[in-house]
Amino acid sequence: MEPEHKPASYLRNSIVVKKNSVAIIGSGIAGLASAIRLAVAGFDVKVFEANSYPGGKLSAFESNGYKFDAGPSLFTLPALVDELFLLAGKTPSDYFLYRKLPETCRYFWEDNTRITAWADLPKFAQEVESNTQVPKEKVTQFLSDAAWKYKTVGDLFLDRSLHQLSTWTNPTALRAYLKIPFLGLFGTMHKANESYFQHPKMVQLFDRYATYNGSNPYQTPALLNIIPHLEHNVGAYLPVGGMHAITQSLHKLAIELGVQFHFNAKVEKVLFEGNKVMGLLVNRQQITVQEVVCNMDMVNAYKSILKEAPQPKRLLRQPKSSSALIFYWGIKQTFPELGLHNILFSHNYRAEFEHIFAKKTVFEDPTVYINITSKYEELDAPTSCENWFVMVNVPSHDGQDWDNIIAKTRRQVVLKINRMLGVDLEPLIESEELLEPRTIELKTSSSGGALYGNSSNNRFAAFLRHPNFSPNFSNLWFCGGSVHPGGGIPLALSSAKITTDMMLGKRKN
Ligand SMILES: Cc1cc2nc3c(=O)[nH]c(=O)nc-3n(C[C@H](O)[C@H](O)[C@H](O)COP(=O)(O)OP(=O)(O)OC[C@H]3O[C@@H](n4cnc5c(N)ncnc54)[C@H](O)[C@@H]3O)c2cc1C
Repeated sequence: MEPEHKPASYLRNSIVVKKNSVAIIGSGIAGLASAIRLAVAGFDVKVFEANSYPGGKLSAFESNGYKFDAGPSLFTLPALVDELFLLAGKTPSDYFLYRKLPETCRYFWEDNTRITAWADLPKFAQEVESNTQVPKEKVTQFLSDAAWKYKTVGDLFLDRSLHQLSTWTNPTALRAYLKIPFLGLFGTMHKANESYFQHPKMVQLFDRYATYNGSNPYQTPALLNIIPHLEHNVGAYLPVGGMHAITQSLHKLAIELGVQFHFNAKVEKVLFEGNKVMGLLVNRQQITVQEVVCNMDMVNAYKSILKEAPQPKRLLRQPKSSSALIFYWGIKQTFPELGLHNILFSHNYRAEFEHIFAKKTVFEDPTVYINITSKYEELDAPTSCENWFVMVNVPSHDGQDWDNIIAKTRRQVVLKINRMLGVDLEPLIESEELLEPRTIELKTSSSGGALYGNSSNNRFAAFLRHPNFSPNFSNLWFCGGSVHPGGGIPLALSSAKITTDMMLGKRKN
């Protein structure tokens, strides 16, 4: 039988948290950002992290002389990171440096077509025209539409809680209602791209942005065509020191602001009475709390540390976003034809997504993403070598025979690279590490190892995410990629802003 949790019993054998205090469960990027925001607002902040290191998915490791960012590799909207240093009264560049990339991605097709997405828009549009005969004006117009959509709904979707009446009655929302027919809420991303470009390669190139939040371009709303705006109009960036520099610099700032980090401190239970959270159980120790911010994946939180609380059943049943299978390869050769971000497209994108989301397995010709940070960070690989982060989108873990799928996919990936780059890759791989849905879940407690929480594969997806507050407990809050506004570094950082703004009472109805 479960013990009864009474406030008096916590106080006998507990860490008593000071007045105006908050406990944060998890030190993912959103947990770190929330800690900084709340410390700046004068809270006494304690972070409890299950791992021995901060950052969650945004971590790094070294293997046989090769350095790898373990998770995210594409970085947009660095201003959201800078903002945290500015909030704390610091100069961002004293902590965190980044460079704008001259090209966002190199695209490869099986018929030898290659397109480099230059940061310089006219140059990119010209490259598209030269390689596909799609007029360059069509590309620039598409991206300027994306900018318009972003401007129209960005503030509404990304900067506010969609679960508060005030969001829907503010002037931005009222203006956006008038533009609903032009926003792409009713068709899919693929349909919109197909009818606009009518060229299979350009459709595929822009359909790919659905994977930026782990969804299926054949199902996700066309509104998500705002994503390329961030990369093509605003820019893609790389932190100096690699992606992990984001975690390191924010962790450093948080410590300077007095945030206390407890590592190897897995929260086992949220203790509550009525509609109030009273404490946390961490390593069998009770901790009294005033406010709690949960940065742990929402689904797994309800299934474990909140399993005795009322459950948001519909949200818990919702399909997951995609996961990833990553081979971290040390390659003893350099490849001038490859850049930092490279995509080797599948010959059948529709079949690839059907396999991920309907069949829940991996297509025989998957799209292969190769990220090579040693192109910029020379020390990430030994001389004349490259650190290849080779990723395939895969379904979240749902009981599949992963050992089999991984072995088969590895063979297909090597063959595809051999074919498309004209190499014999296997003898060049001198070191190898692996990350897959089961280990993503194990390392970050993300349900099914999904990268971005629940999927966005229907038009109401944004509205179906868990709110940034608890509907059941007045002092429990949620932040991170599994709640509104969603996954990806910029959205996880936005979620921390929405959550802490609500806590600080700035977004009351
Ligand atoms: C392979 C991969 C590639 C990606 N690529 C990109 C990309 O290119 N660009 C991009 O923008 N995004 C990318 N993402 C997504 C991005 O990493 C996430 O959206 C973002 O890092 C989520 O941060 P978070 O704070 O929500 O949570 P997480 O990083 O999941 O952190 C949650 C933290 O909570 C801790 N925790 C969980 N349970 C407990 C508990 N009970 N007690 C204490 N602590 C607990 C975990 O250990 C973890 O540290 C990628 C993700 C992966 C895995």
